[in-house]
Amino acid sequence: MSCAYGARLPTLLTALRLPTIRNHWETMSAQADAEGWTGARLLSVLAELELAERSQRRIGRHLEQSRLPAGKSFESFDFSAVPMLRRAHLEALASGDSWLASGQNVLMFGPPGAGKTHLAAGLGRRLIDQGYRVFFTRTTDLVQRLQTARRELTLPSAIEKLDKFDLLILDDLSYVEKDQAETSVLFELISARYERKSLLITANQPFGAWDRIFPDPSMTVAAIDRLVHHATIFEMNVESYRRRSAVTRSQTAAKEVKAG
Ligand code: ADP
Ligand code: MG
Repeated sequence: MSCAYGARLPTLLTALRLPTIRNHWETMSAQADAEGWTGARLLSVLAELELAERSQRRIGRHLEQSRLPAGKSFESFDFSAVPMLRRAHLEALASGDSWLASGQNVLMFGPPGAGKTHLAAGLGRRLIDQGYRVFFTRTTDLVQRLQTARRELTLPSAIEKLDKFDLLILDDLSYVEKDQAETSVLFELISARYERKSLLITANQPFGAWDRIFPDPSMTVAAIDRLVHHATIFEMNVESYRRRSAVTRSQTAAKEVKAG
């Protein structure tokens, strides 16, 4: 490649917004010259590089926006601690596909420490790696945000903004306080996403106790009805992982080594 082309190329690539090609064209074209690549091969190698880095950057952005708790992955989850979970089932969900496209839900029940947040975050992480968009929030935080939006008469647009997320993870639904205005924004969110966009909800309390969350029984029934219509439900009725690992640390360590 002559100097005249080389001098102009960075400007052209910047104008075309191809930063990866701009960074790599020199080494790649030197390699192409040395190894006698065809022009088509050089072009295609550079295009692939640009695409790969672009997708990595997008995933990085999505990960930042997701607010997922750090370090809670599928890989670090000890499935043997929750024998009622089938790992294959979760792996299937983690591959995304049709359940997100049709707005199906996932519900995780279990006592504090059962691993609900960890598992939900791990699932979210896997989905982001595949290009999906996920948002993780404590349910109380989101309810407060929507509550503010309602006061400012912008609730519909606040709910609509969440549509950009294929999956909304509402952690700890049971901690929402029973307050007419507060919980009806939650109901409106559930209704708005029904059969369109997925929700993953974790809760310490099974449905029987949800009357304590929603202000009146008919709203509770209507909310549960929409949530479970197309849903996968995981009952994680195990003792707190933290407590167990404190009590039987040595056994747990042995198990992890085996599973690892
Ligand atoms: P929950 O949300 O059900 O209250 P968490 O997911 O917060 O429980 O789990 C409590 C702690 O124990 C976290 O630090 C989590 O990473 C860890 N933990 C829970 N279950 C497991 C598991 N099966 N394997 C590895 N770590 C776990
Ligand atoms: Mg939790």
